[in-house]
Amino acid sequence: MSTFKPKNNGLDLPTHLLHTDNADTTGYQALATPVYRGSSIFFNSTAEQRREHDPLALSYTYGIRDNPTQFTLAKKLAEIEGAKHALVCPSGLSAITLVAQACLKTGDHWCIPDNAYGPVHALAQSLRQDYGVEFSVYESTQIESLVAAVKDHTRLIWTESPGSLTFEVPDLRAIVALAHSKGIPTGIDNTWSAGIALKPFELGLDFSIQALTKYQCGHADVLLGAVLSNNSPLFAAVERKNRLYGLGVSPEDCSLVLRGLYTLPLRFEAQAHTALELAHWLSQHPAIKTVLHPALPSCPGHAWFKRDFTGAASVFAVALHQQFSDADACAVIDRLKLFRIAYSWGGPESLGLVVNITDSRRAHLVSLLGECGPMLRFAVGLETFKDLRADLEQALSVLNPGA
Ligand SMILES: *Cc1c(COP(=O)(O)O)cnc(C)c1O
Repeated sequence: MSTFKPKNNGLDLPTHLLHTDNADTTGYQALATPVYRGSSIFFNSTAEQRREHDPLALSYTYGIRDNPTQFTLAKKLAEIEGAKHALVCPSGLSAITLVAQACLKTGDHWCIPDNAYGPVHALAQSLRQDYGVEFSVYESTQIESLVAAVKDHTRLIWTESPGSLTFEVPDLRAIVALAHSKGIPTGIDNTWSAGIALKPFELGLDFSIQALTKYQCGHADVLLGAVLSNNSPLFAAVERKNRLYGLGVSPEDCSLVLRGLYTLPLRFEAQAHTALELAHWLSQHPAIKTVLHPALPSCPGHAWFKRDFTGAASVFAVALHQQFSDADACAVIDRLKLFRIAYSWGGPESLGLVVNITDSRRAHLVSLLGECGPMLRFAVGLETFKDLRADLEQALSVLNPGA
């Protein structure tokens, strides 16, 4: 039942429709965060409009960033990771780019791990070519390699744990200790842990980034990213870049990720549980040389994983035995029926890919693992262990090891 008091203030209908009040929201309580849409945000006075706005304070001035749906998402993400500051940006990659551009200017230098998310290498090349920002690549599990890479003008040490595609876990505490001794800011791509299983700010890192596209969205239908920080001046620099680049995100996308957050811990845990069972099963398979899952001792950096993480995610890789070719690896992936072939992960459907890495990274991995064949990456979704194991079993049967 609705009872409305007609009111038109003597205005014509077009004017009246714009200048009538919205329904009163008092007494309305529901779980979902409303999708607030707005580019113009109304001020109550000229004085309010002219007031200096603190970029770190929540304030509503203009729709490109100042949106309650977006701020609610940022607030919840900050609570997950124990961060003071958070902003939501269009993708995980844009989150990394914002941190790099906020920390680095012409003549500066940064260090990136060999197993960083692929586009980070392309970003580093582009910043060097176009802006004269130098970089060095270090071997993620070898602190001496980072010690050798750091220069007097290093202004950012980038980390990722575990590394993309090959899942080696770095000694984050040693990396942070080195960075602190030299006053160099640090950042981590913390997407794998979704901020649940690793708390970078407890370890002293300055930035954490998330590809919300993955577990937080959880349904493989939104692209968003986030930058989190406990370092106010550094975060303010990121926030300035965010504004300068004019990066806005859709409140609908934010509300979809907010919906995903309600089930994030449960999905994360369920998918991780199935993934670990599959990893154990795969480690016994005759075609497989090594399982690169941080929770298994066969994964480089496993001891640091046990020390720093409270759990594992559901994405891991396996290396086939040396006798198998790239064509064999493709045949396995192509035979999978439940695992789909796609980039990204964190959604409800399981995915599989043949891993492509550079020759130098492969050589480094071989130095840690011994000779091995091609690698496959699996992102485990919400299907059951029994069904996924059967799918892997039938797909791997094309390899017939020893036959
Ligand atoms: C997917 C991913 C990204 C990039 O996220 P997008 O939202 O797809 O740009 C960054 N880092 C890691 C580790 C990722 O898996």
